[in-house]
Amino acid sequence: MRILVTGGAGFIGSHTCVSLLESGYEVAVLDNYVNSSPAAVAAIEQITGKKVLAYEVDLLDLEAVQAVFQKDHFDGVIHFAGLKAVGESVSKPLEYYHNNITGSLNLCRAMREADCKVLVFSSSATVYGPVNPIPYVEGMPTSATSPYGWTKVMIEQMLTDLAATDPAWSISLLRYFNPVGAHESGLIGEAPNGIPNNLMPYIAKVATGELPYLRVFGGDYDTPDGTGVRDYIHVMDLAEGHVKALEYALSHTGVEAVNLGSGKGTSVLELFHAYERACGKELAYQICPRRAGDLPAFWADPRKAEALYHWHTTRDLDSMCRDSWRFTSSHMG
Ligand code: NAD
Ligand code: UDP
Repeated sequence: MRILVTGGAGFIGSHTCVSLLESGYEVAVLDNYVNSSPAAVAAIEQITGKKVLAYEVDLLDLEAVQAVFQKDHFDGVIHFAGLKAVGESVSKPLEYYHNNITGSLNLCRAMREADCKVLVFSSSATVYGPVNPIPYVEGMPTSATSPYGWTKVMIEQMLTDLAATDPAWSISLLRYFNPVGAHESGLIGEAPNGIPNNLMPYIAKVATGELPYLRVFGGDYDTPDGTGVRDYIHVMDLAEGHVKALEYALSHTGVEAVNLGSGKGTSVLELFHAYERACGKELAYQICPRRAGDLPAFWADPRKAEALYHWHTTRDLDSMCRDSWRFTSSHMG
């Protein structure tokens, strides 16, 4: 079976390509490399010893996307391609709506024309919005607090409406919690440009000495140690979750929203200390004011993924930090 992976050169996409190839799927990557590079495709081939077809295509270019589907047959699509920086989406809402929504619309049009109707979509825990109780369960109402989050809510709605028009569609809306870590080989991982927004890449740069200390955003939340609590998930667990979701989607129809998380909350300071253990040195931090828009704590109810996909996370916090550090320390300078 051949699977098209949009955004396959990115952080989660590249790890998922490895899992797909190792599970026996053929993989084609479609990416415009706006936040990645073809080197990731070469690394996927190096890790797996298998060939990957790569299309340098922008999802905003409808004709180019259609041409991909005319040239090749795909049994399913995993759709990661999108812009993902929450803060940037607030200052560039039109760019975010255009890239994420128009890109998804173009993809769906091309898929419909090619009669390819199996789609796994990268959604996010952000669609649970600011008021739902924790842990988050798939049936809860969705909303958002940033243009980025609204693109996920809107695309979920659009895909649900699309599936309602034709019972042949099979669509999975995968709501990721906080993906971190890297492939065990150290060859692929998360390498954001500039100063990272997310916690683990920021701590990684403190560990390399590129940044002096971690700014802990808020020390007075109503959580066990006062710092924010999230559900961190090893990116290889997440990648394997996609293979299970795809298997399910290939043998069912309709729409399913499914959480991919561990079901466990971890505080900023717990993650920070786990990273100190992984890199073998003491790191500095300072408690700073809360970051605007942050929720105190959330984690997944992971039971639906277990029931539908027979999937749950297997890698702990120490392996997340160890694998992140292996990748980071071998890509320093
Ligand atoms: P990433 O930026 O590393 O990967 C996204 C990829 O999409 C990049 O390779 C980029 O070049 C490509 N891309 C973007 N716009 C494109 C376009 N118009 N045409 C073609 N390619 C395009 O991000 P990631 O962390 O791997 O995230 C993948 C998906 O998962 C995104 O949709 C993101 O919103 C979602 N997600 C990520 C997280 C997270 O914390 N990383 C959490 C929840 C959901
Ligand atoms: N965080 C922090 N310092 C940073 C980045 C993040 O204290 O430099 C905290 C943040 O307040 C939140 C947690 O780490 O409690 C996870 O933040 P991240 O941005 O990685 O994910 P998200 O907020 O999107 O869940």
